Amino acid sequence: MPQIARQLEAEGVARIAVLAEDAERWRGQADEFPPRTSFHSRKELDAVQRELRAMPGVTALIYDQVCATEQRRRVKRGHAAARTRRVFIHPEACENCGDCTALSNCVAIRPLATALGRKRQIDQTVCNQDYACLDAYCPAMVTVEGGDLRRKATAGAGSDALSDAIGRLPEPAPWRWAGPYDLVIAGVGGTGVITLGALVATAAHLEGKSASVLDFMGFAQKGGSVIAFVRLAERAELLNQARIDTQQADAMIACDLVVGASPEALQSLTRGRTRVAANLHQIPTAAFVADADADLHAAGLLAKIRHAIGSEAVASCDAQDLASRVLGDTITANVLLLGFAWQLGMVPVGRAAIARALALNAVEVEANQLAFSCGRLAAADPQALRELLGAQPAQEDEGGELGAIVGRASRRLAVYQDARLSRRYAGFVAQVQAAEQRALGAGAALELTRQVAIHYARLLACKDEYEIARMYSDGSLERAIGAQFSAWKSVRYHFAPEFLAREGADGRPLRKFAFGQWLRPALGLLARARFMRATPLDPFGWSAARRAERALAAEYAAAIERLLPGLNAGNHANAVRIAALPAGVRGFGSVRRDAIERMKVEAHRLGANWR
Ligand code: SF4
Repeated sequence: MPQIARQLEAEGVARIAVLAEDAERWRGQADEFPPRTSFHSRKELDAVQRELRAMPGVTALIYDQVCATEQRRRVKRGHAAARTRRVFIHPEACENCGDCTALSNCVAIRPLATALGRKRQIDQTVCNQDYACLDAYCPAMVTVEGGDLRRKATAGAGSDALSDAIGRLPEPAPWRWAGPYDLVIAGVGGTGVITLGALVATAAHLEGKSASVLDFMGFAQKGGSVIAFVRLAERAELLNQARIDTQQADAMIACDLVVGASPEALQSLTRGRTRVAANLHQIPTAAFVADADADLHAAGLLAKIRHAIGSEAVASCDAQDLASRVLGDTITANVLLLGFAWQLGMVPVGRAAIARALALNAVEVEANQLAFSCGRLAAADPQALRELLGAQPAQEDEGGELGAIVGRASRRLAVYQDARLSRRYAGFVAQVQAAEQRALGAGAALELTRQVAIHYARLLACKDEYEIARMYSDGSLERAIGAQFSAWKSVRYHFAPEFLAREGADGRPLRKFAFGQWLRPALGLLARARFMRATPLDPFGWSAARRAERALAAEYAAAIERLLPGLNAGNHANAVRIAALPAGVRGFGSVRRDAIERMKVEAHRLGANWR
C-alpha cells in the first residue's frame, strides 16, 4: 500500500486518501506514506469522495479491500480461511427500504418476493462476507454463525428419486455440423461464465476436436458483463479466428438476461440459425439501488431475445432457483444451465467429455455433476423436476382482491396489537369503500379503497420495539433461517434502538449493538408487553419516532376522510395517488424520517391540486 501511494505521489497526485476496513493499521505506518495522505474507515467513502472532488488537481482514493472474486478464489484454494459468519435478512422485519443496498452497493442483496410484498435477501453464494450491509439502519439483519447451507433435493429419499429421474433421461439427438460450431456464453463476472467456456473447450479437446475461447470482460469484477466466444471444430484449420462473426452464433447460453439481451450479445444471433438457452433469474441492476421497487425487466429482456431469433428458438429456466433448491446454493447455477442447453442439443460435445472436464476442473466436482444433470432434467422433463422439488411456498404479493387484502391485514393487526385495532382498520376501509362506490357507481374498480387497505394497515402496524421483538421471538426467524440453512450454531441480532444508539450528524446510528441469543427471552417478554403500546405506561411511546408514527397514521386517515365527500370520477385518480403516497415510507430511523418528509412534501403538492 505505501508503495502504491508513493508511486501516485511521484506521478504528481496532489492528495491521497486511503480507505480500509482497518484504517488504524495504515495510520500506524503513516510515515511510510506521502505527507498529505489521510486514512479513513471505508464507511467514510461518500464523505471522502465529496472532499476529494472539491480539491483542485489530481487526487487519488485507495480502497484497501480484497476483491470479492479474488477472496472467493483464495478461500477455494485454501489460501484464506472461510468466514463462518453470514448475514441473513429476516424477511418479516425487512421493509425493502434499500438502505442495505445503498450502503454496501452489494450485488448479493437480491429482491425476495413474499406474501407481504417485495423484501430483500442475501444470496449466500454471491456474498463476499465483508458485512458492509450490516451498517444499514435496520433491525432486520442478523448474523448466523456456523451455518450450513441446506441441500434440499440431495438429501435422503429426495436424492434417490432425483437419481432415478436423471437415470431415465434420454440422450439428445445427435448433432449434425460440419463447419465450426459457434457458441456464445453471456453472463456476469464472478459467476463462472469464463469457466463454462473453458469446460466446453476442454470437453471438445478431450474428444479430439479443436476449440478456441475468446473472453470479453467489460469489467473484470463481480457483476460486470462477460461474453465468451467458444468455437468448436473437427480440425484446427477450420478455426481461422477466435471471435464469432456477426450473426454467426449457432447457440447462446444466456446466463444473465441483461448481458444476453445486450447489443454486444444480440449481434451474434440470427433468426433461423441461433438457439438460446436463457436463465430467467433476475440479477438486480443499478436501478434496484436507486429504486427499491424497480422492475428488473426479465420479461422484456427475454422478449428482446425472442424478437431477434423467434420464440421457438428460445428455451428458458430459472437456473439459480433450481440450483439453490437442489443444491442449497447458486454457485452451480451456470453449470446447471449448461446441462439445460446440452440436453437441448446446443452444446455439441459428449456427456462423458463434459463429465471429465468437470472432474479436471477439480472444483465442487460432485455438485457440478449433479447441477449438470439437473439442468438436463429441467430441459427434458421439467414436470418431473417440479414434482421432485415440491411446491414452492405460495407467494402472493401485498395486493390481490380487496377482500383478501383487508382480511390479511385485519388478521395481522390483531396479532400486531389487538382485535380493537383490527376493527378500527376494517371499519375505516369500509367507510372509504362506501364513499368510493357512491362516487363511481356500482361495479367500478375500487382502486382508492385498495390503496387505503394496503397503506393504512402498514402505517398502523409500524415496526416499533414491540413488533420487532415479536418478530424475533415468535419462531419466524428460526423458520426463515431453517429454510436456507440445515444447521447453525448461533444467531446474533444487530440493533440500533433509539433509546440506546445515538445518531451522528448524518442521522445514522453511531454504532449498532450486537446481542447474542440470550436476548431472545427478553424479546419474548417485550413482545407480550405490547398491550402497553401507545398507553401512558409505554416506555417507548414518548420517543419522537413513535409519536411521529402515530401522528402519521392519524394524519393519513384524516387526509383520506377529507377527500371522501368531494370524491368523483374526475378527481378519483388524484385521490388514488394521495392514498398511495405511504408506499415510499419504509425503513427505520433516519431512512424512514426522510421518507416521511418526502411523502409530506408530495402530499402537500397533490393536496393543493385537489378539487
Ligand atoms: S429493511 Fe431496508 S435495510 Fe433492512 S434489510 Fe430490508 S431493505 Fe435492507
